[in-house]
Amino acid sequence: MGAPEAFTATTDVGHWIGGRAVPGASGRSQAVYHPASGRVARQVALASVDEVAAAVAAARAAAPAWGDTPPIRRARILNNFLQLLNQHRDTLAAMITAEHGKVFTDAQGEVTRGIDIVEFACGAPQLLKGDYTEQVSTGIDNWTMRQPLGVVAGITPFNFPCMVPLWMFPVALAAGNAFILKPSERDPSCSVFMAELLKQAGLPDGVFSVIQGDKVAVDALLTHPDVKALSFVGSTPIAQYIYETGAHHGKRVQALGGAKNHMVVMPDADIEQAVDALIGSAYGSAGERCMAISVAVLVGDIADKIVPKLAERARTLKVIDPMDLAAEMGPIVTQQAKDRIEGYIALGAEEGAKLVVDGRGLKVPGLEGGFFTGGTLFDHVAPSMRIYKEEIFGPVLCCVRVADLATAVQLVNDHEFGNGVSCFTSDGGVAREFSRRVQVGMVGINVPIPVPMAWHGFGGWKKSLFGDMHAYGEEGLRFYTKQKSVMQRWPDSIGKGAEFVMPTAK
Ligand code: NAD
Repeated sequence: MGAPEAFTATTDVGHWIGGRAVPGASGRSQAVYHPASGRVARQVALASVDEVAAAVAAARAAAPAWGDTPPIRRARILNNFLQLLNQHRDTLAAMITAEHGKVFTDAQGEVTRGIDIVEFACGAPQLLKGDYTEQVSTGIDNWTMRQPLGVVAGITPFNFPCMVPLWMFPVALAAGNAFILKPSERDPSCSVFMAELLKQAGLPDGVFSVIQGDKVAVDALLTHPDVKALSFVGSTPIAQYIYETGAHHGKRVQALGGAKNHMVVMPDADIEQAVDALIGSAYGSAGERCMAISVAVLVGDIADKIVPKLAERARTLKVIDPMDLAAEMGPIVTQQAKDRIEGYIALGAEEGAKLVVDGRGLKVPGLEGGFFTGGTLFDHVAPSMRIYKEEIFGPVLCCVRVADLATAVQLVNDHEFGNGVSCFTSDGGVAREFSRRVQVGMVGINVPIPVPMAWHGFGGWKKSLFGDMHAYGEEGLRFYTKQKSVMQRWPDSIGKGAEFVMPTAK
């Protein structure tokens, strides 16, 4: 494969309402950066309450006909969209790399994991079938059906500008809803491009809208009476705010929050495999993944063997232009995020953890203005330290040493986050015990980043998810539909006279 084509658009990014691109009209906008160079690439509009209301009105007008469209015909449009996504996979990946900074090959992987959900949604008619019981009572049949909610919205984070929206809208659309996406203002380009592809695929105008914006747009969606459900993915404080405010306004809410994922390495683990897994999952995407491993829990005597190997690999990570196919790690999304991460590195050293590899001050030749921080490794991290307790969301791996499996599991279970966890071992009994006892939503055994496939559903526990339904998969379809039960009989089976007792099966 030759060098991929970079995404270099400079025009302002606006909204997508009623099946067409709409420039921002609020007079407010924000810079979108090219993190590898540190330059401002373009501006993104920040919507006003009125612009959100226009998107909701367009969605409300389009929702009834879309909800009435037979599921198989909805799926055919999603199938057209699937073909277009496959065709434009590298365009989307280049947009992600340009605005987020993750390496192009990783961005391609992100698009593919999003495409998985569209493939799942194309088969949704099968899952939308209801249940039917003939003869629940003499002459009476009973069935359930799942109907769309109407207008639903999704609010998404910067770290997966293509995949996380795809966790939501293909499933919501397959279920017959109109969807409004409020993407992250830091990397907004994929959202409008996917809207164009949906239109090309044959989606009726108004069924999918994009509103660019910040808290003003989010609050307008949260309080709008015509928005029936909200899916959110982002940091925990905002997830909790979305959950509470949305619920207060009578909406169905699923709000996925932050993470601090542990990987437990048992003394019987294959050391080389564990090192590869830790390096890839701690430093891939510069640690800006909700399923990144940020804590290595080293059990027994394995720490002394593994830490020197981790240090060597962290020091020699290929941090270069993220469009270079040999790149292993790119820049941090913004200067502000880089400052926050480097602040945590300083804090860890002050708190008494051993700073084995310090990524601060990294300069990439030719990209001196970029927001780069190198891979950072701490050893002897204690559970009382803030670098252990808080989400750093950067390329910083903290090693905690423990004596045995029970202490490792207790450590994981005591943490306030519970998104993903992993255990590296060659003992089936340990693997089984770990999977059963650990209080975390997504578990990997010798798998460092156990992101469930499209038909299994994604969701953490504890402060990593507010609400009860996971994203995508069958839980996603349930989230975007409401169940109705119909009980039916015909006049010739109806007896005479009013009944005053609770009806029971006859
Ligand atoms: P963020 O919480 O800052 O922003 C997420 C979304 O909320 C954005 O669309 C943003 O515009 C909006 N928002 C921000 N502040 C708001 C406010 N005060 N009121 C209303 N809306 C607001 O998150 P981020 O920095 O974009 O993404 C990184 C975070 O997302 C990390 O904490 C990461 O762990 C988390 N994340 C979680 C998952 C998961 O599945 N659990 C997946 C990806 C990312």
